[in-house]
Amino acid sequence: MLKGKSVIVTGSTSGIGRAMAEAFAGAGCHVMINGFGDENEIHSLLENFKTKHHVNAFYSAADMRKPDQIAAMVKEAEERFGGVDILVNNAGIQHVAPIDEFPPEKWDAIIAINLSSAFHAIRAVLPGMKSRQWGRIINIASAHGLVASPFKSAYVAAKHGMVGLTKVVALEVAQLGITCNAICPGYVKTPLVEGQIADQAKARKMEPDAVVRDVILAAQPTKKFVTFEELNALALFLSDDKAASINGASLSMDGGWTAQ
Ligand code: NAD
Repeated sequence: MLKGKSVIVTGSTSGIGRAMAEAFAGAGCHVMINGFGDENEIHSLLENFKTKHHVNAFYSAADMRKPDQIAAMVKEAEERFGGVDILVNNAGIQHVAPIDEFPPEKWDAIIAINLSSAFHAIRAVLPGMKSRQWGRIINIASAHGLVASPFKSAYVAAKHGMVGLTKVVALEVAQLGITCNAICPGYVKTPLVEGQIADQAKARKMEPDAVVRDVILAAQPTKKFVTFEELNALALFLSDDKAASINGASLSMDGGWTAQ
């Protein structure tokens, strides 16, 4: 059903976005990836998508802090693919500090990348989706879009904002064959989280294994990381016609974290 659709996944040179872009390519979708990274690695990622999955694959270097670059990324995808069917707003960064020590420039960057970039990308893809009367917008929020943790003021604010934005877009597009949903993952072992494990181990003078068990996964009842495969399966299902009535939802995939 997804074969031949076109997808943009923001922040897809690493972690969740990279795995999700590959899953969409595996389902026969043409993909535009985005994010920072080594030029050769990005090139081989695109080649891998093309040869393994026989799809078109392109890279946009758009900086998700820059609205004009986001608009240009969408325009390029529309020109290359003839339209954007599925948009996954995934790019994100983290910074952990008490609020009175939180650097304002980190606050601005997190709000720009984790929240405002989704607004700019959505407003750019919607006219095309409306004209084709079909579209899927998937916002990668977080358990932190539903509940808070200390020292993550900007991240929690941005992710709660993402959940609110998801609901508004869902209402505006409800009769147009388009859906907008948020996926709210718990912890997934990506470079973003590996950085946190290392930082916490240093700060708390603990072994990394103990940090994973007693700090990182303390709130996650399964005590297991959420996997790429689980997230990919949900994103592919949300993109299917059978998910047409799932709209404006914030779907937790967090091992029970937000059930507490
Ligand atoms: P990651 O660090 O592995 O990947 C982040 C991606 O965003 C990279 O491709 C990076 O280049 C890109 N990026 C960062 N700044 C950018 C910018 N200015 N412009 C364009 N691209 C930029 O992180 P991840 O863990 O895969 O996280 C992906 C998303 O999932 C984020 O929104 C994150 O908040 C969310 N999330 C992650 C977890 C987790 O446990 N890893 C849990 C819940 C939600």
